[in-house]
Amino acid sequence: MTTVIIGGGQAGVQVADSLRAGGYGEEITMVTDEAPWPYQRPPLSKELMNTAGAIKPLPLRPEMFFCDNDINLVRGTAATGIDRRRQTVRLADGQQLPYSQLVMATGARVRPLGIAGADLPGVFGLRTLEDAKRLESAIRPGAKVVIVGAGFIGLECASGLRALGCDIIILESGSRAMKRTSSPVMSEWFAEAHRSTGIDLKFEERIARIDTTPGGQQLVALSTLGNRYEADVVVCGNGVMANDTLGAKAGLDVDDGILVDSSLRTSDPKIVAVGDCARFPSVHAGTRARLESVQNATAQGRHAASTILGGTDAYRAVPWFWSVQGKNKLQIAGIVGANDRRITVGQPDEGKFSVMNFQRNILTSVESVNQPAVHMAARRALEHAILVTYDQAVEPGFSLVTATKAQQASAA
Ligand SMILES: Cc1cc2nc3c(=O)[nH]c(=O)nc-3n(C[C@H](O)[C@H](O)[C@H](O)COP(=O)(O)OP(=O)(O)OC[C@H]3O[C@@H](n4cnc5c(N)ncnc54)[C@H](O)[C@@H]3O)c2cc1C
Repeated sequence: MTTVIIGGGQAGVQVADSLRAGGYGEEITMVTDEAPWPYQRPPLSKELMNTAGAIKPLPLRPEMFFCDNDINLVRGTAATGIDRRRQTVRLADGQQLPYSQLVMATGARVRPLGIAGADLPGVFGLRTLEDAKRLESAIRPGAKVVIVGAGFIGLECASGLRALGCDIIILESGSRAMKRTSSPVMSEWFAEAHRSTGIDLKFEERIARIDTTPGGQQLVALSTLGNRYEADVVVCGNGVMANDTLGAKAGLDVDDGILVDSSLRTSDPKIVAVGDCARFPSVHAGTRARLESVQNATAQGRHAASTILGGTDAYRAVPWFWSVQGKNKLQIAGIVGANDRRITVGQPDEGKFSVMNFQRNILTSVESVNQPAVHMAARRALEHAILVTYDQAVEPGFSLVTATKAQQASAA
């Protein structure tokens, strides 16, 4: 009996940890194509950008963890094939690893820009420690930076590089910032916050091509509106794609992510998939979803381990996410719907407020800016099915923190 885990990121490491914590006594082998010891990605676009020249990985677990828990970690080697009939994984170095249980935790990769010039030196994605180091070495105060995409990575990167004294232009093809994940109120508030620091945010403008100036000293980003932006560096914050090709090649069901059931099993019962690479039936989204967050990767990692250990529960964890953009921390609990009814509570002018989102009359998600207590209350409300209605929330003086505490106390 051996569990092989492909991918040594947040989700893969959590599966290994939870298997051991749950008493799994068989072999565990984890394969990662990255050379460094497993590390956390969120700091790559946050604190580390603010400490130029000092990017150091924050480990997901201390190195001792792998030895202490008898986890055989193979670093710097990709899994290149899965033979489901023989139950083996082939590695790039020629090794064949037999498995009785396989975990796909392959994460995601930066979506290619798909335009001419995308492979010029000076054009960077930001997914790995190596990416962050390469980007960092190309940055100096006063550098002109074009960022493609006003999603979380683009905006976090923009504020970090702005703090380092760079000139920033963001080209966003959509009509607002963080459109996929946030309400219009939140998009507008963050766009203004970034503009107030001197970041130039352009919406409904798509990058069309990247050239160089005649001497080749600088990049020139050309947009679909015909504008030319000179840049020392172009950062691709245009989203990621699931690493699902290995799964697809092995014949697993795939649709922008490896499809799993509510126990996180793929179409092959010997294989589970977790984290950024998995598309799962989400009770909170009301449809199949693929989420890209630390919470999703760790909660699914725990759940997949319990499935391997014989559990049959459905995965139902409340999704939550955070983003740090300059001095502002955004925390989202639940999934923000495009057609939700919304109430803004608190003081947007002072940078302390929340947007409560409702489907019909029921609270389904809360976005909080610099209000950790409200975020925690939102998670409590959604996790414990504490009923919070739109009608309640519009009452003068309504506080989510007080309301959730009161309901929990009365239920105890
Ligand atoms: C810059 C940045 C900032 C972020 N900030 C936040 C944040 O503030 N809050 C938040 O909640 N989330 C944030 N995220 C998202 C979060 O880090 C991811 O959702 C999480 O890391 C997903 O974990 P994972 O294990 O599914 O995938 P990953 O962490 O991507 O790990 C997958 C691993 O598998 C490896 N792999 C892939 N294919 C193979 C193969 N064939 N063989 C061997 N290895 C393979 C990959 O190289 C990678 O090491 C951020 C992500 C980035 C990149």
